Amino acid sequence: MTTLADPVPGGRPGDVERATALSGELAGRGVHGVVLAYVDTAGIARVKTVPTARLPSAAAWGVGMSPVFDTFLADDSVVATDVLGSPDGDLRLYPDLDRLVVLAGQPGWAWAPVDRITQDGDRHPGCTRTLLRRIVTEAAERHGLTFEAAIEVEWTVGQGDAPGDGFVPATTGPAYGATRQVELGDYTAELLAACAAQGIEVEQVHPEYAPGQFEISVGALDPVAAADRSVLVRQTVRAVAGRHGLRVSFAPAVVGRGVGNGGHVHLSAWRDGTNLHSGGPGRYGMTAEAESFTAGILAHLPALTAVTAPSPASYLRLRPSQWAGVFTAWGRETRETALRVVTGTAGLRDRAANLEIKPVDLAANPYLAIGSLIVAGLDGLASSAALPEETTGDPAHLGEAESAGRGVRRLPESLAGAVEEFRADVALRAALGPVLADAVIAVRLGELASVAGLDDDRVAAAYRWKY
Ligand code: GLU
Ligand code: MG
Repeated sequence: MTTLADPVPGGRPGDVERATALSGELAGRGVHGVVLAYVDTAGIARVKTVPTARLPSAAAWGVGMSPVFDTFLADDSVVATDVLGSPDGDLRLYPDLDRLVVLAGQPGWAWAPVDRITQDGDRHPGCTRTLLRRIVTEAAERHGLTFEAAIEVEWTVGQGDAPGDGFVPATTGPAYGATRQVELGDYTAELLAACAAQGIEVEQVHPEYAPGQFEISVGALDPVAAADRSVLVRQTVRAVAGRHGLRVSFAPAVVGRGVGNGGHVHLSAWRDGTNLHSGGPGRYGMTAEAESFTAGILAHLPALTAVTAPSPASYLRLRPSQWAGVFTAWGRETRETALRVVTGTAGLRDRAANLEIKPVDLAANPYLAIGSLIVAGLDGLASSAALPEETTGDPAHLGEAESAGRGVRRLPESLAGAVEEFRADVALRAALGPVLADAVIAVRLGELASVAGLDDDRVAAAYRWKY
């Protein structure tokens, strides 16, 4: 389990001793430095690094970093809110020692996610990992609920020597094709080895639909650990690719048209060790609570899109009939509804049943995405929200009248539309807090301004190698 307590100046009891022992052990294993990782509001993974010998100091006093990154855009320009985006101030990055791993794909390096606190030792309201820790803690205290989550990672592999910023797929084979598996077999074997060495439980790696596209799925963990794992998986996918002369992109769309890279979230709510998505009297074994949780997410989805699909490029991916789930509907194992109820196979259901949320991509900050989804689900649970009728097949083929009758809506077709929905969702904004909610709006509007007037291909190109 992830440590849910906040960092404190001087270190929580035992932290410094633990970091001291760890730093000696790491040095003995040839680790020279530790990557301190977090994800900004735009969804860019940002880092500082410290020499291994500085780990005890980092555990005690943190490592400095400006709060300005909370309003950085993907192109590294800066926007501002009334409290963020100024060159003033400093934050302390505290590594979570529970999640520190030696990076198999980057010899000489270890990695740890960080929480950010102020120089006065207070929570930083812009820290998304801190927010997710708080959401999880409150769900346990107020509702007696815990969660399991996993983020699927899809990525596109390009030839490392392609000219300029162009994308030339590194594979020629068809979707899910054995050809592709053979073509990049050395790369994906080394990726599996690196994940295993890092304690990442991989469930599958396979060639995906789009040219050069692959997917890796990993086992579920508590929400904070699942978000950490998603960041680590991407660091590993990229690092191993570089060793094979390949270039990878997790961008929602690497070209203007066609199937994009998703980051589907799998989520389940649990009470007293029992999975609420299985063994209940509701549809497909859902308990009444699981149905209401699902209904809550469904109701908030248009606003959630500003969090789960945060880039202008996200809307190149979020198109009907591309398995990205762009309609506010749910179905059992339906790949075109935004929510896919996964029952699991007979015999495994009490463990495996979960909800898959599809309109999520890897430009999303994973802490913010999972946290917002939990908030939305809990909102449904608190009001015993009724889950509408199931939709089967592709909702794109429902007529207008039938869609309206079922309450099936197309999700926002642009980031501007998603921002409007987010602005109108008082409950979601309140859960994020004003500092973070304002940062989300400012950063999304900044991204939109940065691509104003560009056609789809140029929007894709602008973000192709950013994520
Ligand atoms: N690539 C699809 C997406 O953008 C998902 C394909 C799948 O269901 O695995 O979400
Ligand atoms: Mg996939």
